[in-house]
Amino acid sequence: MTVRVCVLGPSGRMGRAVIDTAASRAEIRLVAAVDRPDAPGLGAPVGATAGLVASADLAAGLDACDVYIDFTAPGATRAAAEAAAVRGRAAVIGTTGLLAADEAALEALARTAPIVVAANFSLGVNLLRGLARTAARALGPDWDAEVVEVHHRAKRDAPSGTALAIAREIAAGHGADYERVKRHGRDGDVGARPRGEIGVSAVRGGDVIGEHTAYFFGPAERIEIGHRASSRHIFAAGALRAAAWVVGKPPGRYDMLAVLGLE
Ligand code: NAD
Repeated sequence: MTVRVCVLGPSGRMGRAVIDTAASRAEIRLVAAVDRPDAPGLGAPVGATAGLVASADLAAGLDACDVYIDFTAPGATRAAAEAAAVRGRAAVIGTTGLLAADEAALEALARTAPIVVAANFSLGVNLLRGLARTAARALGPDWDAEVVEVHHRAKRDAPSGTALAIAREIAAGHGADYERVKRHGRDGDVGARPRGEIGVSAVRGGDVIGEHTAYFFGPAERIEIGHRASSRHIFAAGALRAAAWVVGKPPGRYDMLAVLGLE
């Protein structure tokens, strides 16, 4: 089956990666590319798909597709979700740094359509999430758990959505409430590290696509479980796989672990 896909943000780093990767996928047909009204390249051809032109007409893009792929910005993701909810349109959402109101728009969309939401669409990172939970469960809170992420200098949100997802898996492995044990960054006299705290630190610089490491520090030994992305195409490939998977599913919010069969 071929699924018709609308890509949001075709001028962005991830939008371009999705469009490039889609060209080699027989099960994907790009039918629309929607950007913000002042984006570069509006009205110009997009990728290698004949007749595909970047437009600012979100309604037309959503009407033309079976599923849309969104790697944009929180406000744009919220607006698209509201427009998609009216149409019951399936969605693949990769935007990170979402606020409560944006999340609420996704929950509303998930009541009318199947959607896949992931802070990271790579197979390796989703496997890392599972490994981090297993390690935390086996080692317990006496081993100090920390997550460190590194990203390119243009990334706006910190810590990364992926780092938060890994940290939440560690909390689940400890049987702890993440909101009570989290420590995002440290500055000043923070005192001794409490037992069970889960630290998350963000490093920014250069053109790093994404690195995540979960550390477990025990007495006189430590474990590091890491993932390094060297191309945005791993996220694009995962998002396209999610798009082909999600069309036809019952309404609801799905995780990338379900798409990859890792649940
Ligand atoms: P970018 O700044 O390069 O691109 C953002 C794109 O969104 C641009 O094309 C911009 O014009 C477009 N946009 C902004 N407002 C819009 C609107 N109202 N309508 C349509 N398009 C709009 O950013 P990027 O590096 O491509 O990252 C985009 C998002 O994806 C970020 O939140 C990033 O953290 C996230 N991301 C997620 C994953 C993942 O696997 N989930 C991987 C990489 C990046």
